[in-house]
Amino acid sequence: MSQPPRIIIAGAGHAGGSAAAFLRQYGWKGEIVLVGEEPLPPYQRPPLSKAWLKGEAKAENLALRPPHFYEKQAITLRLGTRVTGIDRAARQVRLGDGSTLDYTALILATGAHARPLTVPGHDLPGVLALRNAADADALQAALRPGQRLAIIGGGYIGLEVAASARALGADVTVIEREARVLARVAGPELSGFLAAAHAAHGVRIVCDAGVAEILAQDGRAAGVRLTDGAAIAADAVLVGVGALPNEALAHAAGLPCHNGILVDLEARTEDAAIFAIGDCTRRPLPHYDHRRHRLESVPNAIEQAKQAAAAICGRPAPVPEIPWFWSDQYDLRLQMAGLAFDTAVSVVRGDPRAGSFCVFHLDVHDRVLALEAVNAPADFMAGRQLVAKGARIAPGALGDSGIDLKSLTG
Ligand code: FAD
Ligand code: NAP
Repeated sequence: MSQPPRIIIAGAGHAGGSAAAFLRQYGWKGEIVLVGEEPLPPYQRPPLSKAWLKGEAKAENLALRPPHFYEKQAITLRLGTRVTGIDRAARQVRLGDGSTLDYTALILATGAHARPLTVPGHDLPGVLALRNAADADALQAALRPGQRLAIIGGGYIGLEVAASARALGADVTVIEREARVLARVAGPELSGFLAAAHAAHGVRIVCDAGVAEILAQDGRAAGVRLTDGAAIAADAVLVGVGALPNEALAHAAGLPCHNGILVDLEARTEDAAIFAIGDCTRRPLPHYDHRRHRLESVPNAIEQAKQAAAAICGRPAPVPEIPWFWSDQYDLRLQMAGLAFDTAVSVVRGDPRAGSFCVFHLDVHDRVLALEAVNAPADFMAGRQLVAKGARIAPGALGDSGIDLKSLTG
């Protein structure tokens, strides 16, 4: 007797939870089983370094959907359960308790994990990472007035946690390997602005700094020794040095992976019955010559969840989106759109000293490839249209705040 159709989603995070909802929205009538190794139903990670860390958000604000949603939508949650293997020939997954489940289609939404540091002392108590709600609770416990926090990594995690930790009264030092903070995702103008903003809030930032070891006292982390010999005393150390895709499951099943599970614009892997979405993937970018990239963001998790659900439900693929990102630090709202690959010129619009400005990144033909906005939501919205259209605009016009950006969108 044939089995009823069933979608299994491995990973109940932002991408997995969104895929389950889109499948129902797009008309999937069969079973949906959402398997997550964390004990919580799908929740949002962005507040973990911001409002949640500062104690300003409630648990219900973290949840992706209200608790009754899953029952109402007949989505079976298997929480605290890990998918441990895939039998592609049998179209079956194995779960941590040894049981198996058949699938019609499988969606891998396993996310990413914090890249570990390998220096001596990395495993001492008091060395923390921030990827999930349990990590955030452990970090929050270490953030009291006067406590010293050393943060290794001046990326998104490092800077957002630095801002939240200052709000809680902790004493903060950020240690960054590059010459500037947020080097992976932002241009030098924004990096410089942010470094100054953090310094003004009392954060000490050390760039061009290699970490030699985590120092110990009484069996706990007590600071960080840099490769130049300098020591930074700390009561806790947060490691925020990037994220690595959770691709082991896909790799063991023989699916092509290369710093992320390789997928197409329907979020499909090499196996027509297996999709992969969110932080665990490496995907083509239609607006950037289809080059492959890992996009580690909520908008990407949602976009790929839509792609997989549409493909499974036989709907047309959604229109590709321009990648975009946001971050909140102190009273600064950062919004970024596009990816600054192969840029030739950057143009500042507005006044960084007034705390409200944009930086546009253009190629050699004056095509707008990306923009970064600080407390400039209207310019961000208009600028995003320019990126989406691949508009060519003279740098002088872009940088002239007297010219309404909307008049340039055509
Ligand atoms: P995740 O949300 O990580 O979910 C993956 C889930 O799969 C996890 O629960 C994991 O435990 C589970 N899992 C893994 N393997 C298995 C398995 N074998 N079986 C079962 N379950 C498994 N992005 C933004 O756009 N803006 C922000 O402001 C922002 N802030 C962030 C702040 C923090 C502190 C962090 C950590 C991330 C932030 N991000 C932000 C990034 C964003 O949260 C991620 O891009 C997004 O969560 C990706 O969704 P995902 O479902 O792919 O992965
Ligand atoms: P990240 O943004 O990649 O930043 C990590 C930073 O640490 C990089 O600048 C990196 O420099 C630096 N670094 C690496 N190794 C180092 C070392 N040994 N010593 C000092 N610095 C080192 O990653 P993240 O901040 O850890 O964030 C983790 C994940 O969460 C990412 O997926 C991120 O996108 C996501 N997140 C997103 C948001 C948001 O969108 N607002 C907020 C929080 C988290 P190199 O470039 O030299 O490697």
